[in-house]
Parts: sequence; structure tokens; C-alpha cells
Amino acid sequence: MKYVYGVVPSRRLGKSLGVNVIPRKTCSYSCVYCQLGRTTNKTIKRRSYFPKEEILDELMVKSKENFDYITFAGEGEPTLCKDLGWLIEKSKELGKVAVITNSSLLFDEDVRNDLAECDVVIPSLDAADQKTFLKVNRPVKLSIDRVIEGIIEFGEIFKGELNVEVMLVKGYNDSYEVLNRIKKALAKIKPDKVYLMTFTRPPAEKVEPVDNRGLFLAYSIIGDVADVELIVEPEIGEFGIKSLGDLISVLRRHPMRKEQIEGFLKMLNSDFSTIKNFGVNEVKYKGETYYFV
Ligand code: SF4
Repeated sequence: MKYVYGVVPSRRLGKSLGVNVIPRKTCSYSCVYCQLGRTTNKTIKRRSYFPKEEILDELMVKSKENFDYITFAGEGEPTLCKDLGWLIEKSKELGKVAVITNSSLLFDEDVRNDLAECDVVIPSLDAADQKTFLKVNRPVKLSIDRVIEGIIEFGEIFKGELNVEVMLVKGYNDSYEVLNRIKKALAKIKPDKVYLMTFTRPPAEKVEPVDNRGLFLAYSIIGDVADVELIVEPEIGEFGIKSLGDLISVLRRHPMRKEQIEGFLKMLNSDFSTIKNFGVNEVKYKGETYYFV
């Protein structure tokens, strides 16, 4: 499969059938914590990157599996795909649909309309002031006020669940001042839920996740403005992997821990030397060994 991967366990969406509609590392941001490395094609221009019918064909095949959400996320920012609205409309016939977005294009009415039919939209908001926005997300030329305005406008038309994600990076966006600004922005957005989290997989840059104390401090600042959920553990659950191709396809979008991979390799009568021939890399991070393509 070229575009559809998983099912992967998601910390926010349960069993998630991933759909990638964007070439690798094509994004309007280059977040310091990105698990896919630095952005190589930084753009805010929407395009049809892949044939939409081919994506839908794969989805129809994979949708026979057991999943909670068809999730548009993947290897870059999904709203950069011009066909997203069409794909969401067709996907709705196959199951519940979620989009994980960095929020950068929500100022665009076409993008807001494309996402309006989803069941869940998870826009991220890691900063509410321009200085922190530039430092954490390293966006294309874009103002954070415009991004926040876009999320607010989307919330006004959206009937599904709007769950904002705040990713915390130690020393970047975990101060009282920065969090207080995020809180004020969230008060205007009025999301159904806020996920307060930090990263668990190797980041693009040498940055550190906040520790549990930092997460709880952030919770104490933001917690009274919305229904805030702290996400502190790495995902636990089933990956829908039945072949070596499935495994490589997941590793392209989702680094996995060594012990997660070992079980699959055994099941597939394979080993680490075989998957290394597919360009799989190994990296040690925080006492864990991760594999990714
Ligand atoms: S984390 Fe998401 S928004 Fe940030 S650079 Fe990576 S793909 Fe883009």
C-alpha cells in the first residue's frame, strides 16, 4: 500500500487507519519535535500530490479491517492536499473520519469547508505568540494570530469534535508566560478537548520533552479553560500489520520501539537484518531503541 497504513494505535483516536496524502516532509512547518525529521519541502500551497482515486482504492481495501477512525495525517501536513475534501466525503461512507492538522491553513475558507464533514479534527497549537511560534514550529511566512483566527472560525462552523493538541518542548513553550497566552487563545477557540502532551519518539532537533512535573504544571495553568487530557504514556495497542510491506509502510510514518517490532518480525519469519535492506534506520533515544524509514 502506498498511501494507507496501519491500523496503528493512536494515543488520541484508538485504532487508527492512517492515510497519507502528502509526499514525505512536505509541510508548512518544520517543528523542532517532528518525528519525521526536518521539513524538506516547506510550502503553504495546496496541490493534488497523488491521484485521489488510487488513495480511495487503497482505502476501500483496508477499510475491511477493524478500526475506530480513518485518519488523515501521515508524512506531512494533510490540508496541503487539494483533494482532501473529496477524500473525506468518500471516506465517510467507510467509517468515522479524523484529520490531524497543524492548523496553518485553517485561515483558508476552502480548507475549513473541506474539514467540516469530519467526525474529529485535531488542530495543533504549540504557541500563541509569534516568537514562540517561530521557535517551536518554524513555519513558512505566517502569523500566529492568523492561525488562531483560523481555528476559531473553523470551530464556529464545525459540528464534530474539535480537540486541540498542545505539544510541549522543554525550555521552548513550557514557561508560565507562554502557557498563559496559549490558555487565552484556547478560551477563544472553545475546543471540546485539549490534549496536553510531549513527544516520546526521537525529535528532528536536539530538544527535550518536558518531564511529568512540567506536564502537570502546564495542566495547572491551562486545566481550567477546557477539558484537558494529559497524555503521558507512549501508545499501547495493536498495529494492524500482516506483511513486511505493512511493517515498512507503518515505519515510514510512525517510528516504532524495538520490542514492538520484534513481535512482528517473529510473526513474519523475518529479522532486523532483512528490514534494514528496506532502508530502516535505528536510533537510540531515552533508553529505548526506535526504528523508522
Ligand atoms: S510535526 Fe507535523 S506540523 Fe510539525 S513539521 Fe512535522 S509534519 Fe509538519
